[in-house]
Amino acid sequence: MKGLTEHAMKTQSSNTLLWAILTGIVSGTILGGTLPDVGHSVSFLGELFLKALFVLVVPLVMSSIIVGVSSLGDVRQLGPLGGRTVLYFMTTTGIAVTIGLVLVLLIQPGTSGPSAADAEAMASVSERLEDKPASVTELLQTILIGLVPKNLFAAMANAEVLPLIVFSLVFGGVLTTIGERGSLVIRFFEGVNGAIMAMVHLLMWTAPVGIGALIAGRLGEAGGFSGFWPQLVQLGAYAGTVILGLLTHALIVLPLILYFVGKHNVVQYARNLGTALTTAFSTSSSSATLPLTMEAVIDEHGVSSRTARFVLPVGATINMDGTALYEAVAAVFIAQSYGIELTFAHTIIIVLTATLAAIGAAGIPEAGLVTMVLVLKAVNLPIEGIALILVIDWFLDRCRTTINVWGDAVGAAVIDTLGKKSSKDESGIQRDS
Ligand code: ASP
Repeated sequence: MKGLTEHAMKTQSSNTLLWAILTGIVSGTILGGTLPDVGHSVSFLGELFLKALFVLVVPLVMSSIIVGVSSLGDVRQLGPLGGRTVLYFMTTTGIAVTIGLVLVLLIQPGTSGPSAADAEAMASVSERLEDKPASVTELLQTILIGLVPKNLFAAMANAEVLPLIVFSLVFGGVLTTIGERGSLVIRFFEGVNGAIMAMVHLLMWTAPVGIGALIAGRLGEAGGFSGFWPQLVQLGAYAGTVILGLLTHALIVLPLILYFVGKHNVVQYARNLGTALTTAFSTSSSSATLPLTMEAVIDEHGVSSRTARFVLPVGATINMDGTALYEAVAAVFIAQSYGIELTFAHTIIIVLTATLAAIGAAGIPEAGLVTMVLVLKAVNLPIEGIALILVIDWFLDRCRTTINVWGDAVGAAVIDTLGKKSSKDESGIQRDS
């Protein structure tokens, strides 16, 4: 009975928060759209919210993974969990890239978009991108080298999440092997994790203002509705293709996986993730959103913390369905704008490199735009072509980040269900024998 009342209170407060956030979004859009200067002047409130989220990321990632790994009981459990995670990430990313490719080849937005001549006028982008990896092998090497931190504190200071994840995985694993001394440290990190999650709860109540201000500020920067509208119209067919692909993935593919494989109520899950998804949209950062994603998946929806503590931090860093889809659409769009014919082999290379580029992109704003150089170089497309899509990228970044976070959250639920199923099967086999 007590549990029931607690649950009802929780649902009511999360409903209140969701309404407050929606009000924040609408007010932010109207304010930034109609009064760009005012929108611009409130953007510091959004920045404050963003900073408060970011400060939680490093301690949250480290403590979650350390506690998560040590709670597996046996480090060997990490194998099956890791295997299921990789399988889910690869499958959904592959589907996302395919959706993007099929749509961009069917719709052909590049034949009606701005021509390559406009891009040449903005050639300065290539300078900005020159020092980025040039080939697939180079990117693979960069990703692999980046897995190991040279200096733990430098990695923490620069919020390099991937090396921190690797360190925490090993650290959490060995803590379980050194007896009492290890238990003490595990308990310490349990305390850190609990405290950070409590801070996330507090911070959530500032989300309506933070999210509204971020949107008002960005729209204000784009010159309000009158500045944003021409950007959207000029690149309408391209933006429309990306958005249609993202929606197909988010509203059809992932829900089907969540329902049939994860056995979860899709509407309820999406509702519980409302705050996280709107935060992803307003911050353009999967990493900054991670605290709220964890709160929603574990505390609100009850996915086991063992699974979510592992899947979500890793997912926020390497599982980016939205980014992969966007990379594929953008590369083909650029080829179409330059009138370059792509062969079947090129298309396969685009699938592979778009997946790698999404894995390599950090969970921060516009990271995908930078790693797209790799996709373009792999099929010999002009890098200056990025200038064609630059003007609308801030908006598409928000859309793809939202889908990235939704993909991670669906992953946590699905992998959790698969894990429970396999341990049930195993205990059934043991009983039978
Ligand atoms: N901003 C995206 C994210 O954080 C990455 C990207 O630029 O695509 O998920």
